[in-house]
Amino acid sequence: MHLRSSSMPGRWLAATLWLAAAGLAWSAPPPASVLRNPEITAPEIQAHINYLASDELRGRMTGSPGARLAGQYLADRFRAVGLKPGGRGRSYFAPFGVVTGVKLGAPNRLSLRSESETTTAEVSKDFLPLPFSGNGEARGGVVFVGYGIAEPSLDYDEYAGINVRGKVVLILRYTPDGDPHGKFANFAPLRYKLMTARAKGAAGVLFITGPASEREENLGKLPAEGSFSNSGLPAAIVKRAVVAPLFAGGPSLRDLQTLMAHGQPQSRRLGRARAELVVNLAREKARARNVIGILRGSVARLRNQYVVIGAHYDHLGMGGRYSLAPGVKAIHHGADDNASGTAGVLELAQYFARHPEAAGRSLIFVGFSGEEEGLLGSAQFVKKPPVPLKRIVAMINMDMVGRSRDGKVLVLGYKTSPAWSSVLKGAEGSFHITKKGDASGFGGSDQQSFTATGIPVLFFFTGVHADYHRPSDTADKINSKAEARIVRFIAAVAQRISRLPERPQFVKVAEERPSVGGFPVRLGTIPDYSENPDGVRLSGVAKGGAAERAGVQAGDVIVEFMGKRIRNVEEYSAVLRTAKPNVETTMVVLRNGRRVTLKITPAPAG
Ligand SMILES: [Zn+2]
Repeated sequence: MHLRSSSMPGRWLAATLWLAAAGLAWSAPPPASVLRNPEITAPEIQAHINYLASDELRGRMTGSPGARLAGQYLADRFRAVGLKPGGRGRSYFAPFGVVTGVKLGAPNRLSLRSESETTTAEVSKDFLPLPFSGNGEARGGVVFVGYGIAEPSLDYDEYAGINVRGKVVLILRYTPDGDPHGKFANFAPLRYKLMTARAKGAAGVLFITGPASEREENLGKLPAEGSFSNSGLPAAIVKRAVVAPLFAGGPSLRDLQTLMAHGQPQSRRLGRARAELVVNLAREKARARNVIGILRGSVARLRNQYVVIGAHYDHLGMGGRYSLAPGVKAIHHGADDNASGTAGVLELAQYFARHPEAAGRSLIFVGFSGEEEGLLGSAQFVKKPPVPLKRIVAMINMDMVGRSRDGKVLVLGYKTSPAWSSVLKGAEGSFHITKKGDASGFGGSDQQSFTATGIPVLFFFTGVHADYHRPSDTADKINSKAEARIVRFIAAVAQRISRLPERPQFVKVAEERPSVGGFPVRLGTIPDYSENPDGVRLSGVAKGGAAERAGVQAGDVIVEFMGKRIRNVEEYSAVLRTAKPNVETTMVVLRNGRRVTLKITPAPAG
């Protein structure tokens, strides 16, 4: 077949060819000619998803070139349908910084001096800084503190009677009993041990794998992906051969380890041994971008109020720590998660722009970045909103709306406003597609950043599946017919919300979901996962949760919990794992620059 037939109008030909390729991993944005239908249609939804989930965009990892292309596509579509730019400097882009990985800077040095010899260790071969090590130098005498555990609750304190202030502490990985589920397990994470050493005044930490441990000796690795907040203390994993000379003249490390296995701490100053550890890690930063377009409402009395319609457009890139195919380095296409929701935003933007009389209030369309890394884009959005936050009356989120099996969609957050039941009932009329999920609107996706600031939300979701967070979440598995119906339903919902005579009231709903992440307790704190130099900033607290009862408020920065200094979310998680339900403890927060100490009683999980 000769495709360049002169009898075919060029645009029609382009559209035909493009649609013929639909379902393949297409590597160019769909031409405008296939996206002209002002209604919400399945082929257009599929076209958006085919491009966003294509190999060329390489999984749209936040801050990556693929995410830039995806963001550009959103901006181009917003412009094409006539939305006003809502980003920085009259553009559609609202940029923000994210840490994307950690690598070695220079210099990184370790030298050890025993009675008899001086050893210089080679970075990456003999030692490797921990990804959450602080940068800087630690110089001083060396103190062996066993497994580095000091827990009165276990009646086990390896720091008892030993001064480590200004010293470099040498700590064994794992636990005295070697049981990964035993009583010491919660105190085994290196981050937790490092916090304890920091609290005791150590200058630096060296971790080793004991010779009697069943685990193989390794140095760990510096991840190229993910944000690893800094603990503020130089720390590294070291091969035990390098530290062996420090034990000369005393019991061997193996003997000490055996004694500890019987419950006897063996902490000691290692003769006149001295260590010098210099760590320089480079935290790689990238710029991520939310993409924002605004459409003016048609009702003069309502148009200075806004309804946000959003979806995240980032995904997992080539895999990494949130992948459910661990160790696999392959494009995670993220067709359902969340090219599908992004396609919904694009179709809704086009629909409302082409039906300018439909929306009463103004609409803000947004593609969030950084969702998979911890709701970073939506947190940024509510911190620096394109319009004053109090003018935003509702938020609609779509995250994974492309894999409906029964044609239905889950609606979550339906109790966050008393207005929602009539809105949903009214819009449901001819659709018959809704199922109710969690009422509170907390958890899982970007709507949480909005509920946390007191904005009612509706969150649409067609459920998880076997391809979730795996490379196999591909465009050919999308049910675009069902998604088109779902997005049409969401258009009806958005239109009704935009025309409510009164702004919808916000109701804070108690969370229904059990706690996540295997924590033994639940506090109901909702951390803001963006970087914060002081501690853990809370974007909100769950209604009726332990934190709310204790008087913790949105905007508080947790700096201490259970007597431990907390510098970041990872440290907070490490301490939370050691918490006991129904036992009162303290939490110290910074509130308007003042330290406030609160009594808090963690609730049991589940
Ligand atoms: Zn995801």
